[in-house]
Amino acid sequence: MSRNVTILGAGLVGSLLAIILRKRGHDVTLYERRPDMRAAHMSAGKSINLAMSARGWKALDLAGLRAEMEPIAIPMYGRYLHQPDGQTAFQPYSKNNEAIYSVSRGELNKKLMTLAEENGVNIHFEHRCTQVDVPNNALRLAHNGEEHVVTTDLLFGADGAFSALRASYTHMDRVNSSQHYLEYGYKELAILPGANGEWLMEKNALHIWPRGKYMMIALPNTDGTFTCTMFMPFEGEVSFSKLQTEADVHKLFDEQFADAKALMPTLIHDFFANPTSSLITTHIFPWHYKDRSALIGDAAHAIVPFYGQGMNAGFEDCTVLSGLMDRHGDDWATILPAYERLRKPNGDAVASLALTNFVEMRDKVADPRFLQRKKIEKE
Ligand code: FAD
Repeated sequence: MSRNVTILGAGLVGSLLAIILRKRGHDVTLYERRPDMRAAHMSAGKSINLAMSARGWKALDLAGLRAEMEPIAIPMYGRYLHQPDGQTAFQPYSKNNEAIYSVSRGELNKKLMTLAEENGVNIHFEHRCTQVDVPNNALRLAHNGEEHVVTTDLLFGADGAFSALRASYTHMDRVNSSQHYLEYGYKELAILPGANGEWLMEKNALHIWPRGKYMMIALPNTDGTFTCTMFMPFEGEVSFSKLQTEADVHKLFDEQFADAKALMPTLIHDFFANPTSSLITTHIFPWHYKDRSALIGDAAHAIVPFYGQGMNAGFEDCTVLSGLMDRHGDDWATILPAYERLRKPNGDAVASLALTNFVEMRDKVADPRFLQRKKIEKE
């Protein structure tokens, strides 16, 4: 029996889930807080590019998007380390030439939205959900300064770390939830291409400048640029709070990131124009309410980005839900608890792996003992 399904959030996970549900014949409506990124000149928020792994590709197969994404995904076969003295070293991710892939968040999100619409999903942009009456599946939506209420048979909250459905769950009895901000923030910067549009560093690698208490990483884009992300404490000896003037930024980059700085002509502009954003981990239980609603993606499990698995984990939520629909049809009273049982332990595990990997990336990968253990190829 086809259902009237509503999804909050047309981000990566909400758009993918919409395609999967629509292909099964459900009537699917998406409400998205932001304007349509395909029409407006806006970034997709958060990081410009993302590392996609096998989990992500598997979910894209369900949507039929692999062939379209493959040509614009750049394989990264390992970590490319940059030491303060300019020495570099490559650590392969596997012995079998396996890779993770750098993909543009914006391009992926736009393709998912377009495919959802082509399959008959209705996307309402600039509709922000302010509250959900959970027992009645009634959503309060703000649009053009006015609020209205819609009801639905089945609701998914794919509305990210600050999900309205998640917030509404927390007001119910016996719901446990927590959120934890890291003392670190991040800022995006750019490495530009050469005169002929070529990549000026190794293209097929994830670059890391590990510096103990802080680090910078860079992922390749198809236009010859790299998007760099600087992770650093908000406060302390070396921190964003100590980088107040152009001279402060020049000094840090001259001393710690000289090889990158030579490729960053827009460094000072980017540093002061781009925001310093925070990093949050959230936990909640339960993830669903009866046969009526469930959380998915970051709304269920927002994690810090150091394992490069947030989107991949959200996409895997979709794969698992799809498998459960194969087995149980439209028996949502069975599907939603089974989804929660299968995915909650994975969400918890990836959250803690992501926190642990931060220490490895910013510190341990540059430890000489670690380098030796990894039998690193010195350049
Ligand atoms: P989101 O991407 O947050 O999308 C939620 C959508 O819901 C948005 O479009 C939002 O506008 C909308 N929305 C929010 N509130 C409402 C509301 N009240 N009403 C209606 N709409 C609403 N993951 C990886 O797998 N690999 C990586 O390399 C990687 N790198 C990252 C780097 C950084 C710096 C960060 C911050 C994250 C990174 N991630 C990575 C994690 C990844 O970005 C998230 O896991 C992923 O975006 C989650 O997708 P989502 O659709 O669940 O949520």
